[in-house]
Amino acid sequence: MVQYFKNIWSGLSSTAIGMNITAKHLFVKKVTIQYPDQKFTMPPKARNRLALDMVKCTGCTACAKACPVNCIDIETIRVMADDPHQELLHTGKERKLWLGRFDIDFAKCCYCSLCVVACPSDAINHSAEYEYSVYKREDLLYKFQTLTDEQVKDKQARLAEFMAIEKVCHPDDAPAKPVAKKNIDEKTE
Ligand code: SF4
Ligand code: SF4
Repeated sequence: MVQYFKNIWSGLSSTAIGMNITAKHLFVKKVTIQYPDQKFTMPPKARNRLALDMVKCTGCTACAKACPVNCIDIETIRVMADDPHQELLHTGKERKLWLGRFDIDFAKCCYCSLCVVACPSDAINHSAEYEYSVYKREDLLYKFQTLTDEQVKDKQARLAEFMAIEKVCHPDDAPAKPVAKKNIDEKTE
């Protein structure tokens, strides 16, 4: 019988404590918001999705080398002198490397920002975008390349022709350095 009244008392007292806490929170400032109708203002240095400024990007691949999870995949193509399509960088200097491919796989990115720190041209930065959920993982592979596929093929063909001529003219020279940096999973695939 004593235990019966103890249980009743315990139930009533715990309810009173809970209601007391609830009542106090009716009068304190709310810290939650009605997302997605309301949104927090993100801090200026928030590590949101990355954005590329391809006019600034020189194709140096420093970002890909710095990435600890190999989610940046860059292919560069040397700019040939006979190519009627020439381009100036934002610095006013001539572009030396085309970006035949510049992919970032945001399914792998851990938002460490090391690529941003490594970039000497301020070309890669975190954007204001943090809502980019998708249903398919492959949709998180972002392609930043600005050249069309036809342009890439044309530039690759020009370079291949140049390399073939170089080989004929200077057969004893050491092989030319590779022009493409394939960074991602080719090592592991
Ligand atoms: S933020 Fe980190 S993980 Fe993401 S692309 Fe840059 S270096 Fe790689
Ligand atoms: S480090 Fe900067 S300039 Fe170099 S390839 Fe990456 S984004 Fe482009």
